[in-house]
Parts: sequence; C-alpha cells; structure tokens
Amino acid sequence: YPKARLFSFCSRCKTKVYPDELPNTSVVIVFHNEAWSTLLRTVYSVINRSPRYLLSEVILVDDASERDFLKLTLENYVKNLEVPVKIIRMEERSGLIRARLRGAAASKGQVITFLDAHCECTLGWLEPLLARIKEDRKTVVCPIIDVISDDTFEYMAGSDMTYGGFNWKLNFRWYPVPQREMDRRKGDRTLPVRTPTMAGGLFSIDRNYFEEIGTYDAGMDIWGGENLEMSFRIWQCGGSLEIVTCSHVGHVFRKATPYTFPGGTGHVINKNNRRLAEVWMDEFKDFFYIISPGVVKVDYGDVSVRKTLRENLKCKPFSWYLENIYPDSQIPRRYYSLGEIRNVETNQCLDNMGRKENEKVGIFNCHGMGGNQVFSYTADKEIRTDDLCLDVSRLSGPVIMLKCHHMRGNQLWEYDAERLTLRHVNSNQCLDEPSEEDKMVPTMQDCSGSRSQQWLLRNMTLGA
Ligand code: UDP
Ligand code: MN
Repeated sequence: YPKARLFSFCSRCKTKVYPDELPNTSVVIVFHNEAWSTLLRTVYSVINRSPRYLLSEVILVDDASERDFLKLTLENYVKNLEVPVKIIRMEERSGLIRARLRGAAASKGQVITFLDAHCECTLGWLEPLLARIKEDRKTVVCPIIDVISDDTFEYMAGSDMTYGGFNWKLNFRWYPVPQREMDRRKGDRTLPVRTPTMAGGLFSIDRNYFEEIGTYDAGMDIWGGENLEMSFRIWQCGGSLEIVTCSHVGHVFRKATPYTFPGGTGHVINKNNRRLAEVWMDEFKDFFYIISPGVVKVDYGDVSVRKTLRENLKCKPFSWYLENIYPDSQIPRRYYSLGEIRNVETNQCLDNMGRKENEKVGIFNCHGMGGNQVFSYTADKEIRTDDLCLDVSRLSGPVIMLKCHHMRGNQLWEYDAERLTLRHVNSNQCLDEPSEEDKMVPTMQDCSGSRSQQWLLRNMTLGA
C-alpha cells in the first residue's frame, strides 16, 4: 500500500496542535455494489491514517449488494486487519439513509464518522474533526472533500474557498465562500468555515448529539435529500455545521452510479426532497414546487413524526436560516413576486426556455405550469429564476441570463407597480416586447410608457 501521504494544502495546518484527549470515533461506511479496490482503499486509509486510540472500530454496512466478492471474500479479508471491522448486512435494499442508521445503531464510539465507500483519508484527517467536536459537541464537521479522479483514481486537492449551498430545485451545489465568512475568520484559512449545507457523504457528529437532533429521516429512500434535511435541521435546531479546512478526505466523484433506483431516480429524489421541504422549509418550499412542475403530485408519505421532532426541539423557522446562516442563498428571504412575468400587450411570458447561463432570456406563450416561466422579483430588485438573473450589459440589450452576483450593477431592476414598467437602472431603459427580427426574445428600449413595456408580475401558486 502506498506510503502515507502528507499533504501540504495549507502549511499552517501542519503546525496546529490538537489536545491529546480527544473523543474516539466509529467509522461507518455504507455501500451498495461498491468495487473491491475503492472499498478497500477507503478502509485501509482509515486504519493507516487514524491514530489507533482514536479509532474505536470500522463498521461496514452492506446495503444488499449483489456482488459475490462483497460477501464471504470480504468477511474473510477484514478478519486480518488490525482494527475491528464489523460487517452488517441489510436484509433488503434500503438506501443509504436507513443503512447509515443501522450502522450508527451498532456503533459504540463517542463520535460517529460517516464516509462513502470510495474515499481516501489523508494523514491528519481525523484529529481536527474530533478536536472541533470536543470544543463544541453541537458542531457537525466535514473535512474538505478532495477529488479522486474516476478515470485514473489520482488524488487532487479540493478547494477551501467553496462551501455548500443549494438551488431552487434543491440540488446541492458548491458556491464560493462569501466575504462575510472570510471576514469572520479574519482571513485565517485554518479556521473552520461555517457552511449552510453539507454534501452529506463525509462528516463526523457527536453520538449523543446525533440522537438528540433526530438522527435521519428514516422515511427517505435510496439516495438524495438527506444531506439538506440534516443541514437545515442542524442549523434551525441550534447546532452548527462546519467544514474543518485542516482535514482532507478524498472522494471519487463518479459519472454514473453502480446501482438502480427502485421506482425511478426522479421519483425517489422528488419524494425525499418533498419530505425535507414539507418539514423544514415553511412557505419557502414554494420555490421548489413552482420550478419543478409535477413534483407536487409525488406522494411523500407521512412526515408527522418529523414535524413533531421539529416542535419538540423548538427549531427556528426557515426564514431565520435564510437570514442568518445563508443570506447569499438562491432563495430570496424577501421578494415581491414569484411566478410568471407577463407582457400586457402580447400576453406572452418571459421564459428561460430551459437554457443555461449566458444565453438570452426568451419570451413565449404563457403556460401557467411554472418551470421555465417562473421568476422572482426580489427585495434586492433582481429578477431571478433559480441562480440566474436577468442581466443587461449594453445599451439596447440583449437581456442575458447570468449567475446572480448580489452586487446590483447590471442586475438591478426597478418595477413601477403603477406604470407596470421594468426599468433597468444602469441603462435607464425599459424591458419591451420582441422586435420584428427576433420574436423569441424581449428587447430593451427607451422608456416610453407604451403597452408593450407593461408587465404583470404574478404571485402564482400551483395547485396540489
Ligand atoms: N449507497 C447505499 N445504498 C444505496 C445507495 C447508495 O448504501 O441505495 C451508498 C453508496 O455505496 C455510497 C454512499 O451510499 O457509499 C453514497 O452514495 P454515492 O456515493 O452513490 O453518492 P454520491 O457520492 O454520488 O452523492
Ligand atoms: Mn460517493
């Protein structure tokens, strides 16, 4: 096995001193149909790069894999390792959430550390995580997730300048660490980053706190949503979530999964996301529902137990989270409208046509189905759909969809609720209907008060 790596991601991390007395941890690794090499790479790196007295045990939870070598061969192999490795078998395919719950229940360390089954821990990965939990048992900590190539399996450093967020569709996304968080740490990059959400695969949590805060939502299937559910829950219920930048663990980001989603990928993820939206997001769940047509029809089961948990823990509202933990969120804390933007003269609606960043915003017959025709005019006076904002950088347009930058500039719009005009502040021109040349895109014209420059901003709700 290759010699232990010592990364110099941050030289100041190397000189940090951690207390001798740290809580020990169980490492819980769940897997379904994992490859032998990646699974063993994970297990060996945990054993070789964790101080023995801090590692209580390794628990492998087999989520009903179908590969033979993951049965007896694996069992016999791990018997020879110098740290106790326990294998638990799920009777049926349960998904990572219930598999982790089973592993956690069988573990006995003071801290539980969850890892995906295709990771590599680096030397010194564990001490910073445990030290932070010792300082504050209500802090849930993630390492920096480095990138292991899924082609060559080489190891590449991840970034300490990004943290976890999410978009209207409730996809987890990495975003730049904002200036306010850099300022809070006074520029010391060895200090933990407070992160709004976590990726979910790799983190450590105090065992008792894991129980107190309500473990996981066992009603979630297979994969997805559990990371945001836990992130919201931690913040809203009095804990905190951090990326400990002196701890590095690599993870194979795969292009394809080696497993199926019984019932369909979309259905499973939508169900999980509905559970987290219904329990934690209050009225802000509308952003998710309105941009994902059809999702309101997905049955999400019974969430009453999770709602009771939220009450018992006296958790704060989602608006508190948006204001205090994630002010740079793609979901605006305050907004004037959420729905279609309709032209009075042509009766057509702004439509992003499912296009991506850097393309012109379109205009199309209004369909009332949300999705591509949903925009929010926010209290910051941007017109956004998810993480893209209407942006004009030249006189007379075009109107482009660009990543929202929260800096006003070319993304600042003034809506006049009496004249119904949308005036672009920097250019002092108004949003207008399409020209003869291109009937598919709105134009920018000098403000004239004509009907073609009048727009209705709707607060639309989609029926269940
Ligand atoms: N996993 C599992 N059962 C499932 C789906 C996933 O045990 O039904 C395991 C999987 O083997 C991995 C972890 O859960 O160890 C996270 O899944 P994955 O790595 O596919 O998620 P990603 O990292 O792509 O988000
Ligand atoms: Mn993974």
